[in-house]
Amino acid sequence: MPFEGLTDRVAIVTGAASGIGLATAGRLVKEGAKVALVDVDGAGVESAAAGIGSDSAIALSGDASDEQDVARYFGAVKERFGRVDLLHNNAGIGGQPVPLAETTMEDFDRLVRINFRGVFLNLREMLRTALDQGDGATIVNTASGTALHGVPGLGAYAGTKAAILSLTRNAAVEYAQNGIRVNAVVPGPVGTPLFEAFPDEFQAGAEQFNPQGRRGTPDEIAAVVAFLLSDESTYITGAAYNVDGGEGA
Ligand code: NAD
Repeated sequence: MPFEGLTDRVAIVTGAASGIGLATAGRLVKEGAKVALVDVDGAGVESAAAGIGSDSAIALSGDASDEQDVARYFGAVKERFGRVDLLHNNAGIGGQPVPLAETTMEDFDRLVRINFRGVFLNLREMLRTALDQGDGATIVNTASGTALHGVPGLGAYAGTKAAILSLTRNAAVEYAQNGIRVNAVVPGPVGTPLFEAFPDEFQAGAEQFNPQGRRGTPDEIAAVVAFLLSDESTYITGAAYNVDGGEGA
């Protein structure tokens, strides 16, 4: 049984050339949505959309942390599909684990720019679009389990993800009366290029710490994102869903 309310809805998924975003885009197309895959990796997002192999999937190159790019790709989606209903606000970077005392301001600023500023810009554009359209919208932001518990080496990254949880709650309460729902998905370790770029011992440590003793798959995250974007979750807003093998328990 498909999820209710995704057929013919128009979705933007950021960071869709790879990993969790790519899995969500594929899942939403399967559920009947029209999906714009957005990524700063132009060639990657073209081949990701081609791989989905449906007229309902289009690729747009753009930097999710750049104000003009965000306005441009939202405009392109409205031109192509007439409106935007759903946003998986997912683009993010991990970087290499490094103790806080050794974190450079260059790395810190890059993390804040892409993981927090980028999420804010896309959230704001979706809110403006939804208020203009006048009939609601649904947003899922990708946070991380690192927002909930300390992970040595990921302090700056974790801070950006905690900020996303706060933004999610505030947007949800501010716009609940406008039919706009805003939730977060909180993944534990997931087998994507971002996680697999960490040193082997770091990856092994993350799996040992995990109650299920393993990393998740992008499809396991995408299933929850699709549920939260669908009309199966109409009474859920401002929530953060752990999808993490029990790590946040
Ligand atoms: P990934 O590297 O497979 O995919 C991330 C995608 O985002 C890439 O295609 C990349 O090109 C794109 N991207 C990066 N910066 C961008 C920008 N400025 N504009 C547009 N696109 C940009 O990684 P993933 O694991 O699928 O990560 C997706 C999200 O999930 C991230 O926000 C990440 O922090 C979060 N997350 C991942 C894990 C994990 O273990 N993999 C755990 C918790 C949260």
